[in-house]
Amino acid sequence: WSILVGVFFGLFTAFSWAIFKSNRRSLIYRLKYALKNDLIYSLYQPKVQLNTGKIIGVEALARWQDQELGTVTPDKFIACAEQNKLITSLTQQLVVKNLDDMHRYLQADSEFTLSINLSIQDLSNQSFLHFIEKQIKNRGINPEQIIFEVTERSAAQNDVLKQATKRFIRKGYQISLDDFGTGFSNLSWLTAFEPNEIKIDRMFIQSIGTQTVNQITLDSIFQLVRNLNVKLVFEGIESLEEVDYLTQHTPNAIGQGWLYSKAVDAKTIGKQLKNQPFTSSAFLAHNVD
Ligand code: C2E
Ligand code: MG
Ligand code: MG
Ligand code: MG
Repeated sequence: WSILVGVFFGLFTAFSWAIFKSNRRSLIYRLKYALKNDLIYSLYQPKVQLNTGKIIGVEALARWQDQELGTVTPDKFIACAEQNKLITSLTQQLVVKNLDDMHRYLQADSEFTLSINLSIQDLSNQSFLHFIEKQIKNRGINPEQIIFEVTERSAAQNDVLKQATKRFIRKGYQISLDDFGTGFSNLSWLTAFEPNEIKIDRMFIQSIGTQTVNQITLDSIFQLVRNLNVKLVFEGIESLEEVDYLTQHTPNAIGQGWLYSKAVDAKTIGKQLKNQPFTSSAFLAHNVD
């Protein structure tokens, strides 16, 4: 008997130890650790006025390299933070860093904008607006310079959110509808919220020159925007052919993508902005014969 009991306890201990170790490597455990030690940060991708090549703002994109897990993509850790009630503190940590970076490196002019991605929980959190007001005041940044991006998917979800976005707009912040075309609520959302900007999802850019449903949708987006007072931003621009196509169809279009730059640190963008008016090398190469 005693041998049997001994074996049982031995196995039990080994098993618990293994679970304990693997828990400590789990995403949620590591995310809590990263939050506690403030290890998640943002890189910035330039937003470019397509017909001039000028950088008119940046979008902050979260990045995390974990000691145990290596690089974790934002899609993964943002979802994890949202599901575990950690998103509010993650967003606040990131926003503080974003505004510091803006204050130090990115105040090219008073029109320059910083785009920040928000989750639904951030928008419906009553105290977030107070938090942001205090943070921008301390740094001499105007509300008009901040663009909050909400995804079309989250926007479709509820009325609380409609009220929240309206509150932000009333205070002078800009609201952008991100990943446009991937959700369900396109037209009704546009008329109800009147966002300042819509961002067309990357999958539509990929359809340029094809005969697909996405290409047809892209054409109807051009049509729609002609009748609305809204800025149009295209994500995922990777080639000059795409730029040509877009500027032919909507002369004032704005774009982001690897053609111009991947997301880089604020200091690097700050240096580029010092050579104002900044004209990206891709734009120059295209326009010099
Ligand atoms: P998003 O806001 O739609 O961001 C655009 C994504 O496209 C980014 O992916 C960016 O790196 C990628 N991208 C930009 N240009 C190109 C290109 O030319 N080609 C290709 N193939 N990809 C390009 P990323 O950084 O992995 O972010 C993914 C998503 O995670 C974001 O989509 C956004 O929804 C979310 N996210 C990122 N940072 C934050 C954050 O701080 N807070 C919240 N709530 N969400 C965030
Ligand atoms: Mg975005
Ligand atoms: Mg997007
Ligand atoms: Mg996206």
